[in-house]
Amino acid sequence: MTRLEIRVTGTVQGVGFRPFVYRLATELGLAGSVRNTPAGVVIEVEGEEEHIEEFQRRLREDAPPLARIGSVATRELEPTGEPGFRIIESQAAPRPTALTPPDVALCADCQREIGDSQDRRHGYPFTNCTNCGPRFSIVRGIPYDRQQTTMAAFEMCEDCAREYREPRDRRFHAEPVACPKCGPRLRLDEREVPDAIEQVAEMLTDGKVVAIKGLGGYHLACDARSADAVETLRTRKGRGQKPFAIMVRDLEEARRVAEVSDRAAALLSSPESPVVIMPAVPGSGLAEGIAPRQRTVGVMLPYTPLHRLLLDRAPPALVMTSGNLAEEPIVHTDEEAKQKLGPIADHILAHNREIAVPCDDSVVRVDGDLVIPVRRARGYVPRSVPVDVEGPPVLAVGGYHKNTFCLLRKGEAILSQHIGDLDTAEVLDYFGRAVRHFEQLFEVTPDVVAHDLHPGYLSTQWAKSLEGVRLVGVQHHHAHVVSVMAELGLMEPVIGVSYDGTGYGPDGTAWGGEVLAADRSGYERAFHLLQVPLPGGEAAIERPGRMALSHLIATFGREEGLAKARRLLPDLTDAELRVVSRQIERGVNCPPTSSMGRFFDAIAALLGATPEATYEGQPAMELEAMATAWAGDTLLPYGYEVENGVIDTRPIVRAIVADLEHGVERATIAACFHETVAAFTCDACRLLHDQGGPPDVVLAGGVMQNARLLARLLELLSEAGLHPHIHKEVPPNDGGMSLGQAVVASESTGR
Ligand code: ZN
Ligand code: ZN
Ligand code: FE
Repeated sequence: MTRLEIRVTGTVQGVGFRPFVYRLATELGLAGSVRNTPAGVVIEVEGEEEHIEEFQRRLREDAPPLARIGSVATRELEPTGEPGFRIIESQAAPRPTALTPPDVALCADCQREIGDSQDRRHGYPFTNCTNCGPRFSIVRGIPYDRQQTTMAAFEMCEDCAREYREPRDRRFHAEPVACPKCGPRLRLDEREVPDAIEQVAEMLTDGKVVAIKGLGGYHLACDARSADAVETLRTRKGRGQKPFAIMVRDLEEARRVAEVSDRAAALLSSPESPVVIMPAVPGSGLAEGIAPRQRTVGVMLPYTPLHRLLLDRAPPALVMTSGNLAEEPIVHTDEEAKQKLGPIADHILAHNREIAVPCDDSVVRVDGDLVIPVRRARGYVPRSVPVDVEGPPVLAVGGYHKNTFCLLRKGEAILSQHIGDLDTAEVLDYFGRAVRHFEQLFEVTPDVVAHDLHPGYLSTQWAKSLEGVRLVGVQHHHAHVVSVMAELGLMEPVIGVSYDGTGYGPDGTAWGGEVLAADRSGYERAFHLLQVPLPGGEAAIERPGRMALSHLIATFGREEGLAKARRLLPDLTDAELRVVSRQIERGVNCPPTSSMGRFFDAIAALLGATPEATYEGQPAMELEAMATAWAGDTLLPYGYEVENGVIDTRPIVRAIVADLEHGVERATIAACFHETVAAFTCDACRLLHDQGGPPDVVLAGGVMQNARLLARLLELLSEAGLHPHIHKEVPPNDGGMSLGQAVVASESTGR
């Protein structure tokens, strides 16, 4: 007889690990116990040596799908002869973040059950188990048990209660366990009907728009192959040209509409089940209106039993876009759905399980091997990011676009789900409630509050209204860089390339094309794009032609610049040209900007991209799409100058105008422009490194969602002997900025 103590760390709590250990030990006839501790799971097993060896092997190999085993440490104990195997209830509670897991996509076992006509959960759209189902989105408070979730309203039937209590059952302690007898039910247009899913499938086939209540909120759905249905939805939703995500029946269907790489396939089928943006397959039959002027498509697989059952009956590809108006938070209550989505949708499919925490779909862009997180929400939140910090607890309130916030405490950062653009009282209210919910759920009371330097951001004003906390203002582009450092555990100084739309510079100008010499607590601005006027602030963002005019005037002077603009920017009226050029000349409401995002906008406008940006980043995304059409082998970058800390954009604009005047194809110019940005960025980094800078280069900011640019940068920097780093799970856009803010604030107050 041998007795062994086995200590397991990693993600082993709240994922069905103890019942798994129990089942494995009893199957092998071992005695002993398993218990949760703050440091992980501690197992004692006693029995014959060969059985213990098998136990150790299968502990790793057969672990539950959501478990991620970190370390396993063993030591021998004296055998005690105690009979049987027990799960010991924990005295000391583990970390709260270990116990409120993210929502998990439907598992294979549950999928089998709902398709099995002999099973008591056959066709039941709320089936779940220890390995799958709603979590974060149904939690109202701590500790995480059924009474603290929106499942408290449903009393378990005897069968479900038996499964819940039985350690051998795969639903042991699955808090949201439910069945057709006792669990939530569907409602179609406010009535319970037995065949709601079949009816909705038929409506969708008929080209109708249906609002569907999902896991973290409502979706608006329609047949993705019906141009009319897609057009109707787009018009009613008032969404401009922003691409719609689609949900397809299975991987096979995904491959019909998109180029699905191995990385993409793995993500599509993962427990997180995000929307994966991939290169679109031309002529796949999807309506043009799904992603106007783009060459990509965002696809997800059914991730709840309701979606699974629906997609088995409905058209094989459905638009599944967040149920909201423009950039408002996703609709999650039935009342709001009636009010706000009623006018958009022909029908509403709801259910009586409340959503406690609204949570949008997560979005990841995949191009070949390149994985670019775009939005981190359902499936990922509130999983914490391990961060090496010692300082006081911090709340970072994020920025304006794509807001998220972040709670930081010893050893970990907890990022919120995507909140949205923080520009109305309604979103700010939602933001404030979400902050309180997180503070309560994860038992963090922040001493320090980090915010952006922009005095006009609602997040900044909200932070400044707090009492009894220490405020730390963090520069926008520094926050982007440190966010990458924090996620990857980079402790040494880096070269930080921070390219985005705009962010507040400490000199009061609009930054956005910055190369910083940075560490976790500070930075120096080493290089930046030549500053040009940003005429009319936001107006220049909506009308990218104005940004082109600004660059033309900066390059050619007022008269010649205007003359070129008349020829090259037919979408700008004469009156607009006159007004904006005078505005630039007099410097009225024209903050200087070094924005890389706006530089992309300007070039996009010159190449004939959309005259109106109907969503953030649209012109730049169209420019990337144009470059995709280029089919040559080698490209030489346009000439540029990097001198005295300034990357001069004028030679590039001059060369592009010459190309346009010589009738060079737009695809070639677009591709050459991307090559040029990659080349001068690499040059700037190399210069900095040659002057004694570090070899590590961090690539951050919303512009890094451009797969073409990012891929080329990674190549060039590696060829130059530098070490480029990018985010893994946290978005490089403003949705990931709060992590960097939190760490900068922690560094500057904690040590
Ligand atoms: Zn399951
Ligand atoms: Zn039941
Ligand atoms: Fe930014």
